[in-house]
Amino acid sequence: MKRIRQHLGWKLFLSYLTIILVGIVSLAVTAEFHTPAAIERHMTNMAMGDNMSGMMADLTENFSRAINEILLVAAATATVTAVLVSTFVTRRIIRPVQAMHAASRRIANGRYDERVQVTGEDELAELARAFNQMAHQLAQTEERRRQLIGDVAHELRTPLSSIKGVMEGLQDGLLPAEPATFHNVQREVSRLQRLVYDLEELSKAEAGQIPLEPEATHPATLVQTAVDRLALQFEDKGVQLQNELPPDLPVVHVDPARLTQVMLNLLGNALQYTPAGGRVIVRAWANDNEIHLAVQDTGIGLAAEQLPHIFERFYRVDKSRSRAGGGSGIGLTIARHLVEAHNGRLTAASLGLNQGSTFTVSLPHS
Ligand code: ADP
Repeated sequence: MKRIRQHLGWKLFLSYLTIILVGIVSLAVTAEFHTPAAIERHMTNMAMGDNMSGMMADLTENFSRAINEILLVAAATATVTAVLVSTFVTRRIIRPVQAMHAASRRIANGRYDERVQVTGEDELAELARAFNQMAHQLAQTEERRRQLIGDVAHELRTPLSSIKGVMEGLQDGLLPAEPATFHNVQREVSRLQRLVYDLEELSKAEAGQIPLEPEATHPATLVQTAVDRLALQFEDKGVQLQNELPPDLPVVHVDPARLTQVMLNLLGNALQYTPAGGRVIVRAWANDNEIHLAVQDTGIGLAAEQLPHIFERFYRVDKSRSRAGGGSGIGLTIARHLVEAHNGRLTAASLGLNQGSTFTVSLPHS
């Protein structure tokens, strides 16, 4: 039964079989019920006389007329039944196909909430389900596109209105034409430049188009390059930076420039979100398949409900504070894409607000 319900071929086969059976049954039923009446009617028309051969010819002729009549009635009945049955079956096949056709046209016109009704379990139902899934994916892609445009517009609005405000102040003479005023404009322009650069990187990363040049690299090199580059900034802020890498880590096959970029991002965040007097430690360890590089800080930490979102683009826990610090909320999104492009994982953990956070890069090693 399940086999029949799930396969259109079986259904069609059964419908044809039904039509044939209906034909035979109609023929038999009609012959059964119609023959006596027909023969009797035709017999009474026979000329009953001495001439036997004349009688026989008459009998044969009338009998064959009776059979013809029976067949005609049976054929008419079978045809009408077959037409009714096949119309019903064809409708059941055509209707969902037509519904999908109409829905696909509406989707093409931008109505992404369009869905078709799924009935049954056969191939058509499967097709309808796949169709609905495709419509759902399209709707999500469209939603992401709309969200991205909204986010980018929002990100551009703040620095642009700030620049506009300063320019108007300068024109009206409300703001003095002094280095501090120009410095404000320059800071906003730098922010815009960084945003544009990050967006370019993000779109390339999301499309998987960042070219990688993997080479055998010692994890210590990646960490040391990033640590050296940020050491001064850590010192300036008064945050202690400890590199606790063991010397015997296995070599990884990665693009050193891209992985250094990831480490810079993680260390930069750790510095940004750790108040003066805090500490940032870089650790590493290896197990059978992977090597793990962890950046642990004693900073502001992350609440459990924030953790799942921090890798989403433009997500910032505290929008005003992060924006003031120059963060666009894209850094971690790009970092995760870069690590995943190396078949690795980037994860975040925190015991809660003000409990510090740990970001761990896990990479496969040979
Ligand atoms: P941003 O450029 O704003 O730092 P990221 O994508 O790098 O953007 O980070 C996204 C958000 O994750 C940050 O705005 C911040 O709220 C949170 N975050 C990132 N790193 C840390 C950290 N080490 N400690 C606490 N919060 C962090």
